[in-house]
Amino acid sequence: MPGLILLFLFSVSCSRFEQSEQEKMRRLNRTEESLPRRSFATNYLLESPLHTPRTSYPWEAQLHLPKITKEFFRCKGNCTNPPLPTSEEKEPLRDCHGTHGLPILHGKEGVYPLLIDLLNYVQKKTGRRVIITCGHRCPLHNSYADASSENRTSKHQIGAEVDFYVQGMEDQPLEIAGLIMQFFQETPPYAEHPERFAFQPYEGSRSTRIKPWINKELFLKIVSPDEGRDGDNRHPYPYLCCQVRFDSLAKEPVVYTWEKAHRGYAQIN
Ligand SMILES: [Zn+2]
Repeated sequence: MPGLILLFLFSVSCSRFEQSEQEKMRRLNRTEESLPRRSFATNYLLESPLHTPRTSYPWEAQLHLPKITKEFFRCKGNCTNPPLPTSEEKEPLRDCHGTHGLPILHGKEGVYPLLIDLLNYVQKKTGRRVIITCGHRCPLHNSYADASSENRTSKHQIGAEVDFYVQGMEDQPLEIAGLIMQFFQETPPYAEHPERFAFQPYEGSRSTRIKPWINKELFLKIVSPDEGRDGDNRHPYPYLCCQVRFDSLAKEPVVYTWEKAHRGYAQIN
């Protein structure tokens, strides 16, 4: 063992000696040369470089999801759907062609902008895709999807209602409902008066197992998988339903009317 230590010390001292000899030779062989400078020459001042972060590659972007637009809300009616027999002796229910426009709001085709903003907020916060199962429904598709009498005044027909779930968070509807409430606390102009847009439990007759919530602008409910499915929500997940209650642009309540539902949308054919 002591032999090994001696060998190690010897090799270390040898390499140090070699290094110092090399340095000595470098100094001996060095030649110096002066750089001519004019008397007024000054050095350029070099600014400290600024760090510029590189742009992300598409696959690195935190949110690589298509932005929700009014196009996502188009009526899901389809003329190839089979006619549905009715219990009464009436004509079977037929679906719409699905090629018509969206409701006309504030002079333009579309849906209430609050719904679009809400769903984009949910996508941004979760990083997951929002699946709209039902946006606008023309009156024909509204009857085809759900012929019940309480659905006749559905706000889907006037572009003021949306049903959706979040891909990958299908079983966490309460978390999504929490995000919708958070939207009003964080987003201008609502965030300027957070107390005005705080949600309260809804005590009315439209109650689902999870009690709905309501604020000045929105009615929000969660529909559990066993609480009835209309034709547009044939999936096994709970889903969220948002209904606009107040039009902040026109400063008036949003209510269903036959006129808005039947004549308020662009009928292409
Ligand atoms: Zn339709």
